[in-house]
Amino acid sequence: MEPSHINAYISLVATSAVLNVFLCVYTYFRRSEISRANVFILYTAALSVYTFGYAIELASNTLEQMKFWTVVEYMGMPFSASLGLILMIQYTGKSLSKKATAALFIIPTITLFMVATNDYHHLFYKKVWLRTDSSVPLMDIAAGQWYVVHGAFTFSCLLCACLILIAQWKHTKKMYRRQLLTLITSQLIPMTGAFLYLMGMTPGGMDPVPVLMCITSSMYIWAILSTRLLTIVPIAKDSIFESMREGVIVLDSSNRLVDYNKALRDMLPELETSMVGQPLNDIWLSLAGETFPVEYGREGLQTDLYWQLHGQTVCYQVRTSYVYNKNGEAVGSLIMLIDITEQRFLQEQLKQLAYFDGLTKIYNRTHFLHKGRELLNEAQLNHQPASFILFDIDYFKRINDTYGHDVGDQAIVHVVSVCNRYLNSEMLFARYGGEEFVIALPNATLQEGKRLAEQLRVALLNEPLDVEGTFIPITSSFGVAQYSGVTDSLESLLRDADSALYESKRSGRNAVYAHSVSLA
Ligand code: GH3
Ligand code: MG
Ligand code: MG
Repeated sequence: MEPSHINAYISLVATSAVLNVFLCVYTYFRRSEISRANVFILYTAALSVYTFGYAIELASNTLEQMKFWTVVEYMGMPFSASLGLILMIQYTGKSLSKKATAALFIIPTITLFMVATNDYHHLFYKKVWLRTDSSVPLMDIAAGQWYVVHGAFTFSCLLCACLILIAQWKHTKKMYRRQLLTLITSQLIPMTGAFLYLMGMTPGGMDPVPVLMCITSSMYIWAILSTRLLTIVPIAKDSIFESMREGVIVLDSSNRLVDYNKALRDMLPELETSMVGQPLNDIWLSLAGETFPVEYGREGLQTDLYWQLHGQTVCYQVRTSYVYNKNGEAVGSLIMLIDITEQRFLQEQLKQLAYFDGLTKIYNRTHFLHKGRELLNEAQLNHQPASFILFDIDYFKRINDTYGHDVGDQAIVHVVSVCNRYLNSEMLFARYGGEEFVIALPNATLQEGKRLAEQLRVALLNEPLDVEGTFIPITSSFGVAQYSGVTDSLESLLRDADSALYESKRSGRNAVYAHSVSLA
């Protein structure tokens, strides 16, 4: 080879190197605005090391120097192939697992090791010598076994990256196709170069790849500036669908399952790919024993779907919408599942706090007043009777004073559990105050109210509280009232019941009194 040719060649390789360093540094300083900048930084760094190493190797005079710079070159080149592949996979919106990523660096690492220790085993280069047909010192090699492995791996990485990008073409919007074309070309050019070189079809047996990198690097720079490659990355629709947190089911116009995403697979693990093509109702019948609980195809309809997931009940909110084609015709529907288990749980907790008494788990006073008013209105509307029982534990202070507050609490819980046995679900039972309770009885006359109060009084009398073998007698005094006319308010009824209760207390306690006016 002519020295002038060699010099031109070296300058081109050096230019490649400079361009790559520029790309690497540029990306590094703008990494905050670039998604997944790290891979691109490493990729261009690897290419810089490779091209610089190669340029210096070409300019070296002795075989020893050349061998040294070859090792440097291989610190970059084999890794750039893997990094290029990872870069393109990420560009298309997909990602590799940590294991798969690590696996991509196994062969490059071995290659570097093989090149560095070649003198001991000659597995990479069978032989290395200075060419005699050249007026300037140039290295020539005879490929060893690992050289073939490395060549095949590098070529495969470039080919895979290319194919992944080409496969993305269809899913890429027109505005992003220029970007995509740049990337495809950036892989095709070195791939073709590597192919020709490995086939021995390049002039003077020179490796054209480092020179071709000049073109690809310039293309990258152009694409970064003109199409904002790196800063605006088109993420494929597929990957949006797959990475959505909401579970999505796609149905065709006959309500057959067409597609579903990863979130949905996690939400309904019972769903299998073999079910695609079957009507959703049939699928649901086999999974849940019933047809799909939501009428799909209706826009925006929402409902809750309870499901057993890993042994726990979860709650999904279901929304549906039509899918239209370009002509505005409905061609299918979407069902979106949103996990609202947490919200439902919190709502339930809030309801518990708002409606129920913490100690006894029966209604609290506020909720009783609300529900009691409803019950009274209903009775007045239907001209049915309704009675209210108010009762208060006798000498409760003594229990507290004698046995302590904890036992006092136990006594309150005990009274509630005894009473609960005599009450049905129609009745409203609430803790009205500290140790005062109220019961609303729908469709019950004063006599029926008195009868129930009497039952409770006797039950409590007969069942003292058992505190570790000590039996503490607990009695209560009761007041009963029935509404007498449409004008009666809940408040006046409770006042009536309270005055009857007062009568019970005055009579000596452990008694049932009815409000006498209500008897009229
Ligand atoms: P009476 O027969 O006249 O009703 O006598 P009593 O001692 O029960 O008198 P009163 O109803 O006025 O006493 C209520 C007491 O109940 C006062 C308060 O210290 C106690 N108390 C109120 N709420 C609780 C509670 O949640 N736990 C406990 N341990 N004591 C409570
Ligand atoms: Mg009391
Ligand atoms: Mg009291």
